[in-house]
Amino acid sequence: MKVVKTLAEWHVVRESMDDSVGFVPTMGALHAGHAALLERSVRENRYTVLSIYVNPTQFNNADDLDNYPCTLEADLKLAADLGVHAVLLPRYQEIYPDGFRFRVDETDFSHTLCGAHRPGHFTGVLTVVMKLFNIVRPRRAYFGEKDHQQLTLIRDMARAFFLPVDVVSVPTVRDSDGLALSSRNLRLSPDARRLAPTFSRLLASAAADAEIAQALIDQGFTVDYVETINGRRYGAVVMACGDHTVRLIDNVPAPEPGFARAS
Ligand code: AMP
Repeated sequence: MKVVKTLAEWHVVRESMDDSVGFVPTMGALHAGHAALLERSVRENRYTVLSIYVNPTQFNNADDLDNYPCTLEADLKLAADLGVHAVLLPRYQEIYPDGFRFRVDETDFSHTLCGAHRPGHFTGVLTVVMKLFNIVRPRRAYFGEKDHQQLTLIRDMARAFFLPVDVVSVPTVRDSDGLALSSRNLRLSPDARRLAPTFSRLLASAAADAEIAQALIDQGFTVDYVETINGRRYGAVVMACGDHTVRLIDNVPAPEPGFARAS
């Protein structure tokens, strides 16, 4: 497995690959959710490229960026064990030679749900993914349903700009108690970790969005939103963890209309 830190090195590695390249962009602190993306890519492509890059332009909260978990050694071991061919660890100066002067801006869906609570977040995401696609030149790119709004926006961007990339979605990987795996779960306090699966459980319940939001508030969550759009229920909550907070997101297929309401 090649571990590549500069774009000059990367271009040489890319030349040694053919068109059958699968790409898994991440921010590191890898867990079984990322592993599911990597496994799928390894199965479907001759080469799999993993990027680990904590993209500052998608963070609207300095504390979240400063404290984003980093487990590089374990990440590299996991990637090697899964059969990844190359790991790209780029630096800000190389990704943003323009200082973020040029951006990919979506004007509709990106302003709803997480976008309404994290101004500029999806512009940062779409911009870095566009840059990484142009650097890596993958045939397929793998994204988790865990971040369903992000997945939808990236798929729409690829269509809108005629990018020669298939955007492949991978189902959300959950812990045995139902909590969606997330790198940020590492920052949950023991109490918050015990309560967190209630968020996933309530979101998947048959109650209406507003009832779920109220039930979450009653349990002590701060609710950013619970909203059903296009047959999917999306939710985001903030959990107090002593001296800091942790924001969790999740989404599930919306219950069928006429599905029995929970009392
Ligand atoms: P991140 O490192 O959080 O930026 O995530 C990198 C990729 O992994 C994104 O496509 C995420 O949607 C995906 N991902 C993160 N958590 C999960 C999960 N629990 N199940 C499936 N995919 C995930």
